[in-house]
Order: sequence, then structure tokens, then C-alpha cells
Amino acid sequence: MKNWAGNIQWNPEVISYPSTEQEIQKIVQDAAHHKQKIRLIGSGHSFTALFQTKDVLMSLDKYQGVVSLDTSKYQATVKAGTKLNILSDTLHKAGMGMENLGDIDVQSIAGAISTGTHGTGKDFGTLSTQVIGLRFVNGKGEIVSCSPTENRELFKAAQVSMGVMGIITEITIQCVPKYILEVLSKPDSYREVMASLTERIENNRNYEFFWLPYTDTVISKTTNITQSEPLPTANLLSKFSEYVVENYAFLGLCEFAKRFPSRTESVAKLSAKLISEERKVDYSHCVYATARLIKFREMEYNIPAEAFQDAMKEVTKIANSKKYNVHFPIECRWVKGDDIMMSPAYGRDSAYIACHVYSNKDCGPYFNALETVLRSYGGRPHWGKMHKLTPDIIADIYPQFSSFMKHREEQDPDQVFISPYLAKLLGVSNYATVMVA
Ligand SMILES: Cc1cc2nc3c(=O)[nH]c(=O)nc-3n(C[C@H](O)[C@H](O)[C@H](O)COP(=O)(O)OP(=O)(O)OC[C@H]3O[C@@H](n4cnc5c(N)ncnc54)[C@H](O)[C@@H]3O)c2cc1C
Repeated sequence: MKNWAGNIQWNPEVISYPSTEQEIQKIVQDAAHHKQKIRLIGSGHSFTALFQTKDVLMSLDKYQGVVSLDTSKYQATVKAGTKLNILSDTLHKAGMGMENLGDIDVQSIAGAISTGTHGTGKDFGTLSTQVIGLRFVNGKGEIVSCSPTENRELFKAAQVSMGVMGIITEITIQCVPKYILEVLSKPDSYREVMASLTERIENNRNYEFFWLPYTDTVISKTTNITQSEPLPTANLLSKFSEYVVENYAFLGLCEFAKRFPSRTESVAKLSAKLISEERKVDYSHCVYATARLIKFREMEYNIPAEAFQDAMKEVTKIANSKKYNVHFPIECRWVKGDDIMMSPAYGRDSAYIACHVYSNKDCGPYFNALETVLRSYGGRPHWGKMHKLTPDIIADIYPQFSSFMKHREEQDPDQVFISPYLAKLLGVSNYATVMVA
């Protein structure tokens, strides 16, 4: 097995594809009985070893679809393995949409919420904040339900839980009536964007930008609700440009920079010149989802929104230093704070800074340098992206970490869902298996 990025590889003894909740329950009970470990995989789009196990790997690919829809309340209960693109299509047909999404839609809904996946927009929390009910099979094989009104504290622990609370089987989402978005993507000056950042974030429903190292250029992306009808031809052209032209042109530049690292700065500057203006008008789910055909490694940190400008001064210095030969853009987004125990946006309105490196290139020194800076601003990493956290750091930056671990212990006392990676990351005491490096 390997993940999307190819940086995590492993050999599970068994891969199971249950298609009912009863089967999921039985697999957990059997694993607990035989002292085996289970890890869950959604679409394998995380960059960390969250799904690695030598025992049982469970995929819910055969456990997808809608359980029930309440079109009067705009609520949907779905099977946890449902991929976001399938979910979006189903909601759309029922006149609904999700209030916000990240920039791809191939993840499973359970995988996305389990790592705190997010989009951008000052009024919107991570995808986990759209969840209003969860049902899961815990390590004892019991079915547990939780929501803001039932087992509330457990709900706050389970909303972002990296698959250590149990196997999520059903997720209830608060949706909104379906809506059309207009997205404008254009080259802009980094200096001008930083000078007018507050207005850009305040005046647009969703604002984000990608800064290109060594340049004063950003791709500035504003997205707003419109009453206009979708524009089929323009959308097709922009899809062609995004999928084919941008991805493959960029792929060529990435390969060139990999072969000739000393030319990285020229590649970044050429990439900046190639950015064109694009407009797209379509239903929300068609606008959020973009194409990511080029493989990369990623680290993304959440920092308090007010620290963004200062942090970026140091981030740009590192990326421009020529020490690391990086040309991949740095993506900057904004997310509303929440009250979910292990959400990187816990207790604060946040900015996210995401750094990418082309696959197979050593990202270690670059990510280490950035991680030191971002942590000094109170940074918390995206759980699905690369980071070097240890249990003592987690305890320091997550005020509710010990409550989270108390719930984990209660739900999975025999550590059925704990792998060597998770034991090390979370500092699970009395972990029974010999740790691997
Ligand atoms: C190209 C690309 C673009 C991305 N864009 C964004 C973005 O815009 N915003 C963002 O925030 N992130 C983004 N990500 C990161 C991605 O959203 C997260 O890593 C997400 O967790 C992946 O979902 P998945 O279904 O692949 O889950 P996986 O990566 O397979 O699993 C993630 C976690 O969920 C657990 N899990 C899966 N299913 C269950 C279940 N049923 N019950 C309990 N636990 C479960 C797994 O054990 C694991 O711990 C991107 C990643 C890639 C590769």
C-alpha cells in the first residue's frame, strides 16, 4: 500500500472492505479478540503515517452513500466512507450543498474530518464544524452516537480524532441550500495583497492566495456567491486550462528544476509570468474542487490569524534564501476558530500556511526551517500533513489534549486503533507493540 503522495508505504496483513455496520463491528470484535490492530484508510490523501499498520487495514470504499436526507432542515446523514465528490453530487440533486470545502474533493468524508481538513473563508470553520452528529464503532466493538446534545464532550473529541476514537460509520452534516459561486483567479502583487489583506479577507466570502517564491507575484483567488447562472463554455475552458495546461506546464517546470536545482529561481519567475486570469461561475462544489495532478509533499501550519503578516515575513525569507531550491507556491488561507478538542483552529480564528515540495525531492531541511518559524508563532500542524510534533509539544499547544486522551482510553482501552506511529505521536502509555522507527 502507499498513500497518494507515495511517501508512506506499508504492508498490512489483511485489507478489509466491509459493506455494513455489522461487518465493521464484527471485524473490530475479532481484531480485539486476536489482539490485532486496525487502521482506517479513506482515500489515502494524508501525507503522514496515520493509516500505516502491519495488521488490519480497513477501507470503507464499499460503505458509501446517503443514509437519510432532511431537505427541510438541510441535513444529511451519510455513510462514513462516502467520497466528497459523490456526497456533493447527491446533495446537489437534493437542492443542498456543503457550506465550504477544501481544494480537492476525492477524500472520504470521514478521512477529511478526522484530520481537520479545511477550505478558506473567515466565516467558515474546518469541515468538522459542519458535522452535527457522529456514529462510530469503538475499540470494544460497541456502537456509540454523539452530537452537540448527546455525549457532547465525546463529540468534541471525536470531531477531529485521526481514527483513534473508533471507526466512524455515519456522519450527519448541516448543509445549506445549493448555491452558485463566482471565482476570480488572477496574478497580483504580493506587496499590494499584504497591504490590503484585511479588506480582501473581509470583503470576499472565500479569499486565498498562492505566493511564488523569489517573486512579488501571487495568484489571488476571490470567491463569492452570485445570482448569475453557471457559464458552461467558460467553465469548460477554465477546466481545460486548469487540468491540462497549468498542470502539465507546471509539471515540465518541476522536472526541469529537479534536474537543474541552480535554475530554481528562474523556474519560479517563469511560473509567475505564466499565470493567467480566470473566471468561473458554477455550483459551489464544482468551484471548490481543483485538479492536483502533480505529486508533492506538503506541510501546513495553522497560526493565529493576527500573526499571519509577521510569520510570512520569515516564511518568505526562508523560501527566498536559495538554500532550499523551492519553487512550489505557498498557499495561504483563513479559517474561523472552533471548539473541537484536536482541531488546529481550536479557540482561535486562524490563518493556514501550506508549503509544498515536488515529489522525490528532499523536503526535510526546508520543512524543518519553516516548522521552527511557524511553531514560534503558536503554530499547530494539519494532522494529515507532514510535521514533527511530539506528545509534549501537543500537550503544550492543545489545551484539551488530556481530555481527548481520556476519551480515547475510554473508547479503546485495548488500543485496537493504536499503531506505532500513533503511539509515538500521542504518547500512548503502555503501548504493547515494539515501536518501529
Ligand atoms: C492533493 C491534495 C490536496 C489536499 N487539499 C486539502 C485542502 O484543501 N484542505 C485540507 O485541509 N487538506 C487538504 N488535503 C489533505 C487531506 O484533506 C487530508 O489529509 C484528509 O484527511 C484526506 O482524506 P482521506 O479520505 O484521504 O483520508 P486518509 O488520508 O486516508 O485518512 C486520514 C485519517 O482519517 C482516518 N479515517 C479514515 N476513515 C475513517 C473512519 N471511517 N473512521 C475513523 N477514522 C477514519 C484515517 O485512519 C486517518 O487517520 C489535501 C491532500 C492532498 C493529497
